Amino acid sequence: DRVVQEQAAGEDEAIDRAIRPRRLADYVGQPTVREQLEIFVHAARQRGEPLDHVLIFGPPGLGKTTLAHIVAHELGVGLRQTSGPVLDKPGDLAALLTNLEPQDVLFIDEIHRLSPVIEEVLYPAMEDFKIDILIGEGPAARSIKLDLPPFTLVGATTRAGLLTSPLRDRFGIVQRLEYYCVEDLAAIVQRSATLLALAIDARGALEIAQRSRGTPRIANRLLRRVRDFAEVKADGRITMEVAKAAMDLLNVDGNGFDVQDRRLLLTIIEKFDGGPVGVDSLAAAIGDERGTIEDVLEPYLIQQGFIMRTARGRMATRSAYLHFGYPPPARNHE
Ligand code: ADP
Repeated sequence: DRVVQEQAAGEDEAIDRAIRPRRLADYVGQPTVREQLEIFVHAARQRGEPLDHVLIFGPPGLGKTTLAHIVAHELGVGLRQTSGPVLDKPGDLAALLTNLEPQDVLFIDEIHRLSPVIEEVLYPAMEDFKIDILIGEGPAARSIKLDLPPFTLVGATTRAGLLTSPLRDRFGIVQRLEYYCVEDLAAIVQRSATLLALAIDARGALEIAQRSRGTPRIANRLLRRVRDFAEVKADGRITMEVAKAAMDLLNVDGNGFDVQDRRLLLTIIEKFDGGPVGVDSLAAAIGDERGTIEDVLEPYLIQQGFIMRTARGRMATRSAYLHFGYPPPARNHE
């Protein structure tokens, strides 16, 4: 199984809570997002109005949920959390909305997975703080209108393009999270190590950061696994050597690619002659969902220049061939 699998079973929630940043000032990296939100939050507080609705998009593990909680905290309001696939009845959404305190944040994760019926209820709620829902069935059904407390909707999604445009248009603030640079990830590892009272040196933190696929969740997860290794196989201190040995054992290579990343790249190279290959064929060949390739695997590989997305499909780049020690193909029209 994937060592760095998003939302892996057995995630230690207590540890997660302990290291999750609570204030904007503790949120490492993403300077543009941080600066803008700081201003918007400050302005909303000054006016005593709810913050405009916020859409946050970016690959899993980059800090969307964390940011939603921070926004509520900085606004000094409460947060209710739900997710697109969970909300399936309009009544559930109505119950959530009518129970909010004025100016509270409602966080909807995976907001691209809301059903069309729910979206319809959400539009007037977002625009006018009103909902119109149908109670009962058949001839006895009647529609009731309810006023809602003013609130801020924070929606998170892996790709903005997955949202319907009427929904996307109703967000006044749209923030995109980028993969983190190694320095920022090293800072996150150091911060988490401090909070967990772990001994780690700068080179140890850097080694973990380099193999974290630009993703704080993975950095924190690798830190926990390296800690286990350090406690059992060394004196508990996380040095570069210890970190390297632990991550080699976990099959996370020097570029941070794990078994799944390598399988994807090798499949394009070995089975499809470097591509171009359509994402559905690729999904069938590696036995993964198309969505996992599109949301989890390839964004990082594309950003790092190992895969190219072309009109005819995915292609392995020169760096991908070299990574596996293959001679790059001679291509005339790349
Ligand atoms: P997402 O909702 O995008 O999948 P999360 O908000 O759950 O991601 O973030 C995953 C973990 O990574 C969090 O538990 C948090 O500890 C850590 N994290 C995310 N972003 C940051 C950041 N900017 N600074 C420090 N830690 C972060």
